[in-house]
Amino acid sequence: MQKLRLVLPILLLVAAIGIAVFLLPGKKNEMVKEEFFAMDTVMDISLYPTKDTDEKPDVIMAELRDRIYEMERELSVTKPDSDICKLNAASGNGEWIPVSEDAWELISEAVAVSSETKVDGYATFDPTLYPIVRLWGFTTGTNRVPGGDEIKKELEKVGFGNIELGSDPNKREVRLAKGAEMDLGACAKGFLSDALCEIMKKHKVNGIVSLGGNVQSVGTKEDGESFSVGIVDPKDGQTLTEVIRQDRDQAVVTSGNYERYFEKDGKRYHHIMDERTGAPADSGLASVTVVGPRGVLCDAYATALFVMGEEKANEFLKSHTDYHAAFIYEDGYKKGFEIQK
Ligand code: AMP
Ligand code: MG
Repeated sequence: MQKLRLVLPILLLVAAIGIAVFLLPGKKNEMVKEEFFAMDTVMDISLYPTKDTDEKPDVIMAELRDRIYEMERELSVTKPDSDICKLNAASGNGEWIPVSEDAWELISEAVAVSSETKVDGYATFDPTLYPIVRLWGFTTGTNRVPGGDEIKKELEKVGFGNIELGSDPNKREVRLAKGAEMDLGACAKGFLSDALCEIMKKHKVNGIVSLGGNVQSVGTKEDGESFSVGIVDPKDGQTLTEVIRQDRDQAVVTSGNYERYFEKDGKRYHHIMDERTGAPADSGLASVTVVGPRGVLCDAYATALFVMGEEKANEFLKSHTDYHAAFIYEDGYKKGFEIQK
């Protein structure tokens, strides 16, 4: 009894502190950082409230978190209920599938980018490369080098012309012809970072989102200092080899051969595919970084430019002057990073 009289108040005190901490509202002006796992990637968000920020940072963070998981549900190529999986499951059967606003917008954008990044008649960015990506085991987790006949067979299903968008934008109906299957993995994170930055702007909060190789920022840190983005050294896929300063609101997206790969008989096979060969792109590049105003385009372009190689990439960028690219070659040679310095 004596013991209980001593322990009980301590227990009550601990519980009270716990409840108080739980209920304590987030203060308005402190930096808030949170990590999420979605779209097969660790995502990092840091928010820097300003004097104009209209909501508590933890409330804004919750809105951002909801948006991340919403897009993952809609756009995932592995979650059976996603718009993309429903489309893939109905491929070739003639049925029109209604999709979410996000999926409609991103599919439309992906088709437009596929067409504008065509080089010498072939697509360097093509969301219907999914059967090839899967053949090499990049979604199944069991990587292997497929044979030429298998590749040929799967390539017959590839071609962004097989994505049909219904004529009524209010219905948002899509269908896939000829057994085509779609994977928006090369542009979905950029689309998401645009959406997250929109939410940040709406609440007048500064910050930076880092979704794997996709980084995008709004404003500056609390002391007015620009955010900076480290560019990974493809040699080890971890250490940073360059830094890009965010002197304006922009996205910095890197596509690299170190992000997903396997090795067989001393050769590296990575996840960025070339439609001409049905095999990993072999442009001599180890990574391409694209900097520009829209995350979705930086993301799609980084993938496309990786496939086209530096020469064609620079040609492409002549007509896309808001976007800049920097290249790191397999031997470590770097080009283009001076643009941002
Ligand atoms: P990223 O990391 O943005 O370059 O996107 C690479 C991912 O997009 C791969 O893991 C595949 O799922 C898919 N993919 C691979 N090659 C291509 C390509 N040439 N065009 C579009 N998507 C691709
Ligand atoms: Mg990409």
